[in-house]
Amino acid sequence: KILLASICVAFIAVKWSAPSFNPESLRGARVLVTGASTGIGEQMAYHYARFGAQLVITARREKVLQQVAEKCLSLGAQKALYIAADMGSESDPEKVVDFAREKLGGLDYLVLNHIGPSPFSMWEGNVEHVRWLMKVNFFSYIQMAWKALDSLEQSKGSLVIVSSLLGKMPSPFVAPYTSTKFAVNGFFGALYHELAMRKSNVSISICTLGLIDTDSAMEKVRGVTDVPAYPATDAALNIIITGATRQPELFYPWFTHIVNLSKDWIPSATSYIIQNSYKYDP
Ligand code: NDP
Repeated sequence: KILLASICVAFIAVKWSAPSFNPESLRGARVLVTGASTGIGEQMAYHYARFGAQLVITARREKVLQQVAEKCLSLGAQKALYIAADMGSESDPEKVVDFAREKLGGLDYLVLNHIGPSPFSMWEGNVEHVRWLMKVNFFSYIQMAWKALDSLEQSKGSLVIVSSLLGKMPSPFVAPYTSTKFAVNGFFGALYHELAMRKSNVSISICTLGLIDTDSAMEKVRGVTDVPAYPATDAALNIIITGATRQPELFYPWFTHIVNLSKDWIPSATSYIIQNSYKYDP
């Protein structure tokens, strides 16, 4: 009980000490959001639009991007441009950054959010799929971050990385996806230290999300687990605030932080809970 009370006090203290968010700071901000045709990325585009940002959004499906961009303009975005790109290609990640820098005249936020589709199933040895998913979910992130770093340095900008609890805590049925998110956390965790040591102007925020109610996630877990899913629009807003206030980490929903700590504090109980939170009959 004392341990639990201390954890709660520590969390409340962290929440209170967090810098306050000024929505005006996003008016006119030059923002590039990836994976913005659906899900959390789409919701982030709408929030940035309501705050009056200048947006470039990207994903593969041009028609869908066009519709999202139109809605962004109707919500108040100062600009809403789109570029179709495949993050599994060698050249598209850098092409997208160049497009955004040119059209917006620089960059204040790079929000890396896209993921390629991956099956929710036991690992059956498809190494080629993992290789491809690494390209989409990891290599394109580091290509884009490197390409954007100069512009972010000039604007005292922010790199916002959308990651997952599964990038800190492995879970069954998602071995390829989990691997890509561990890679993302490892790389950007190291870059965070390097930028701080170089006294860089650029902030990095790594966002650890639990289950969010996007269509793609719900399609996978429906009927398989009773883990609660949290609203994509709320997750999106929390990610944006974390980036705008230059905080290094977000855990959303808040208890994902405790779940993450539990894997080190009570490993066997955590493994038992993980393995029994899915309906699986061999
Ligand atoms: P979605 O599957 O809803 O959206 C994925 C986005 O990526 C889409 O816009 C899709 O658009 C785009 N995309 C897919 N493949 C490619 C590709 N090859 N090249 C370029 N773009 C591509 O994902 P979510 O909104 O659910 O997740 C967003 C982020 O949140 C991810 O980083 C995910 O890891 C993280 N997260 C999500 C959780 C959840 O429960 N939903 C939980 C924890 C973390 P298009 O098909 O048009 O290319």
